[in-house]
Amino acid sequence: MIYRFSVGRLECVVVSDGQPQPPWEPPLDQYFTPEAGVPEDELQAAATDEGRSTLTCGYNCLFIKTSDGLAVVDTGLGASFLGYGEYIEPLVGKLEGGMAGAGFSRGDLAAVVFTHLHQDHARGATWSGEVRFPAATAYAHASEVAFWSEPLELPSALPHVDAARAAIREFGAKLQPFEHGAELLPGVHAVAATGHTPGHTALLLKSGEEQLLCVGDTFYDPLQLTHPNWATPWDLDRSSSIASRRRILEWAADERLLLHAYHLPFPGLGRVSRNGTSFTWQPVDRTEQVRRG
Ligand SMILES: [Zn+2]
Repeated sequence: MIYRFSVGRLECVVVSDGQPQPPWEPPLDQYFTPEAGVPEDELQAAATDEGRSTLTCGYNCLFIKTSDGLAVVDTGLGASFLGYGEYIEPLVGKLEGGMAGAGFSRGDLAAVVFTHLHQDHARGATWSGEVRFPAATAYAHASEVAFWSEPLELPSALPHVDAARAAIREFGAKLQPFEHGAELLPGVHAVAATGHTPGHTALLLKSGEEQLLCVGDTFYDPLQLTHPNWATPWDLDRSSSIASRRRILEWAADERLLLHAYHLPFPGLGRVSRNGTSFTWQPVDRTEQVRRG
């Protein structure tokens, strides 16, 4: 699946690495657990309101044609992924097929920007044991590179260690650690969104009068907009992830920013509005693209 749009003069394409479908959608209670601070009765009530018990979790990789070449933000799970169980293997790892559909080849990539180094963002860059995008420079936050390079014992971090270290190892000298506030590529700015991981980063695209905020894993599901205090077991610093989520959602709502959310249903583009202390997700109208041709 591919979706084309633009942000000022920046041409963008969302390419899906996969969109699990029922019955292979993860249950909400695996993401929103009492241990991560979500009371069971609160989850039950929200699930009843929504009429669903599963997460609509997609993997939306964002391609941007910058004046310094083609960049991709996050690279999906890669082919041959068995980490979530055999059932998911045929549903993900579709990035490279989608790229071909968008007219991109692996050698076209000048930059791979990681919002963070969890396996569902980094493995697509090195799943075969070598860098899939041979001409690309990779970008990850300096704290992210440091965190995954050190010995780790946190149980929720362990499933991600191999993919994170493979990205660090395989890109080697072509991995450029960055700090928040940096302009990584023309029009692509790194914004602090820490908490999910130590170097978790949002990316603000700016061109002319238009902006897009790519939020990575600031939220997994629209339920984290109606309940911004809901964390997941993968938010390594829970209170900081909640503070980042609130700050980004308030900013996005007040400025009516167009957002790209990696895990929301394809293409993961939309805006948020405020309702008191909570928020609502408004997906883009995809028929607009059809009307525009
Ligand atoms: Zn993720």
